Amino acid sequence: MNSVDIAFDQISDIVGKDNFIQNEETLSFYSTDVFVSSKEKPLAVVRPNNSYELIKIVQACIANNVSLIVRGGGASYTGGYLPINSNTIIIDSQNLKKIEINEEDMYVTVEPGVTWLELYEALSPLGLRTPFWGPFSGRVATIAGSMSFHALSHGTNNAVSADSLSSLQVIIGTGEVIETGSQGANENSSRFFRHYGPDIGGLFLGDSGALGVKTRITLKLRKKPEGFAAISFGFPDFKNLFLAMRDI
Ligand SMILES: Cc1cc2nc3c(=O)[nH]c(=O)nc-3n(C[C@H](O)[C@H](O)[C@H](O)COP(=O)(O)OP(=O)(O)OC[C@H]3O[C@@H](n4cnc5c(N)ncnc54)[C@H](O)[C@@H]3O)c2cc1C
Repeated sequence: MNSVDIAFDQISDIVGKDNFIQNEETLSFYSTDVFVSSKEKPLAVVRPNNSYELIKIVQACIANNVSLIVRGGGASYTGGYLPINSNTIIIDSQNLKKIEINEEDMYVTVEPGVTWLELYEALSPLGLRTPFWGPFSGRVATIAGSMSFHALSHGTNNAVSADSLSSLQVIIGTGEVIETGSQGANENSSRFFRHYGPDIGGLFLGDSGALGVKTRITLKLRKKPEGFAAISFGFPDFKNLFLAMRDI
């Protein structure tokens, strides 16, 4: 058996045969994003059921020298999750949906497949929100995909996606699992704080997944505003528009 076959055996043992997909239609679909198509198709698409399986799959790929890419909601359009060589598997995070809310320390930890809409709906009944609460594609875009792409939009007047980070669990290219932030620095601490020693978390934001696979993301929480109002102005020219934006 060659190393790809060995990796495939190990991975299908981890996820089960139903979550190890090799039919042509699926492979073609996963070789396109919103705008771009890749010449290369993945060898397989794999759907782990929890973060533990995700870590084991990544380790199997590393051990057998198989390229891997993680796909979140698939809502990006710059080739970020498309295969560029013929030896690639795509890990689809769509089944990774765990959300753990800590109201006392005001943080929320999610598995990488949670979408912004799912997070918003889980937090809203508690009167909570993350400072950045999603791109316009947040109905399908995931927390992990957006943190890997420096997403902007809802809440950006307070914070871009990166500013909402508290800590990350990441599996890096050696197969080691690291935790950034307060719990990474002190295992007796909780995941409430990003800045505890050098900011290792920042390395993995906006990296398109190139520096590691995010297996768990912890974001800060804040109270959701009780009210919301919108207001609209018209401007005679750009100069006036920019002056008004500066003053706001
Ligand atoms: C209609 C529409 C509206 C949009 N609006 C906005 C907007 O308002 N603001 C904005 O910034 N963007 C916007 N986008 C672009 C895009 O949706 C965002 O960048 C979004 O954050 C991508 O998230 P995703 O889960 O779909 O990631 P994907 O497209 O699946 O992946 C994005 C990147 O993240 C990597 N990745 C995914 N999961 C992981 C992981 N677990 N570990 C490591 N790397 C990972 C992928 O490999 C890829 O490189 C929009 C797109 C569309 C189509």
